[in-house]
Amino acid sequence: MLQKRRCRNCRKKADGEKAIVSPVVAFCSYDCLKAWNQTKAAKKERLKMERKITREAKERLKRKNQWMREAQSAFNKFIRIRDKKFGVCISCNVELVYKGHGGNVDASHFRPRSAAPQLRFNQYNCHASCVRCNRWMEGNLTPYRKQLIKRIGKQRVIDLENNNKPKHYSIDDLKRIKEVFKKRAKLYEKKFR
Ligand SMILES: [Zn+2]
Ligand SMILES: [Zn+2]
Repeated sequence: MLQKRRCRNCRKKADGEKAIVSPVVAFCSYDCLKAWNQTKAAKKERLKMERKITREAKERLKRKNQWMREAQSAFNKFIRIRDKKFGVCISCNVELVYKGHGGNVDASHFRPRSAAPQLRFNQYNCHASCVRCNRWMEGNLTPYRKQLIKRIGKQRVIDLENNNKPKHYSIDDLKRIKEVFKKRAKLYEKKFR
């Protein structure tokens, strides 16, 4: 198979001692490779390749963002179910109504995801709150902190506040996180029905 390959530049057989052969392309000599690289066709090909690489990188990013959303949604759901036993918003103590779209329950990150993405899946950092506190009062953090200390202890709160270690998630990490919290949510759902 390889013996039959032809030089991309001069179309002669590229099987001599000077031949440069890769799985994708063959040249009979370095001179031919250089000559080919100067042609318009070669430039066009390079551009096409670059665009392909950019497109693939974009698609990877898109896929990763999608997995991030799904993992976050599984985690947040777990938090809401885990905190059902308290029955009240961690910040303002209003009663939480668990009723699908008619409910008022959010999973509220103590240190917000935007400022501390490394804590986005940290169970100490996230608690059930009312929609009003979470969405319209930026978490209503002063009473949140007081209640958080009661729930998890002062040291853990301080640890959260000092945790600035960046964390990176691969697509596989995100898939795993989604599965883990989906399972945990189911478990808690049975326990606290
Ligand atoms: Zn050649
Ligand atoms: Zn509230």
